[in-house]
Amino acid sequence: MSAPSPPGANRIGVFGGAFDPPHNAHVALAQAALAQFDLDLLYIIPTGQAWHKARALSAPVHRLAMTRLAFQDVPRTRVDDRELQRAGPTFTIDTLQALQAENPQAQLYLLLGADQFAAFKQWHRWQEILDIAIICIADRAQSTLAQTQFDAYPGLNNRFFTLKLPLMAVSATQIRQLMISGAATTGDIAKLVPEPVARYISAHGLYRSH
Ligand code: ATP
Repeated sequence: MSAPSPPGANRIGVFGGAFDPPHNAHVALAQAALAQFDLDLLYIIPTGQAWHKARALSAPVHRLAMTRLAFQDVPRTRVDDRELQRAGPTFTIDTLQALQAENPQAQLYLLLGADQFAAFKQWHRWQEILDIAIICIADRAQSTLAQTQFDAYPGLNNRFFTLKLPLMAVSATQIRQLMISGAATTGDIAKLVPEPVARYISAHGLYRSH
C-alpha cells in the first residue's frame, strides 16, 4: 500500500487515469504540471474500473506495472495503487479526501485533460472536489478548452487553472487500436509511449485482441 507523503510536501498533485496504456502525453502533462505549479509531489493514480468508462480495462497488474515504468524517471512522482486496491467503483472524491487526511497541510492540485473537464459536472460529488482541490486542465486536441466551460462555474473561477501543455494528439485508444489492427510495429508504438512501456506491451502481448 501507499506510503505517507514526506514531511514538508505541501503542494501535492493528483493525476488519475486508466493508463491503459500510459503514453507520452501523460508523462508530458505530469512534467508540465510539476513545473508550472511547483509541485512538491505528484501522485500518479491508476484508476480501478472507473464508473464512467464502459470498456473493460486491462488487468490492474499490467496497468500498474506500465505506469511505474512510464514515470520511473520523472522526479517527484509517486505511483499509488490505492484505487486498484479498492473494491467497487472508483470515485475521485474518495481518493482526494484520503490524500487530504494524510497530508493535512497540503494544497491538492487535480490534473485533468480537457475531455475529462468537459464532463466534470457529472462527476460524483464534484462540488466537494472543488472544495479540496484546485483543478488544472490541459488542452486536448479533440476536446479544446473554451472559456464558456469555465463560465459554467460562476464564482469558482479561482478553482480552475489552465495547465500549459502543447497539444499532443496521442491517446490510449489510438495505441490500442494500432496494436489490435496488427499493423503497428514495436517501433511505431515506441514513438507514442515511453520505451520501457513499449517493451512491456510487446513482452506481455498486450492489446493483441479484445
Ligand atoms: P483513452 O483513449 O482510453 O480514453 P486516454 O488517452 O484519455 O485514454 P487516460 O488514462 O484515460 O488516457 O487519461 C488520463 C488523463 O490524462 C485524463 O485526464 C486525460 O484527459 C489526460 N490525457 C490523456 N491524453 C492526453 C493528451 N493527449 N493531452 C492532454 N491530456 C491527456
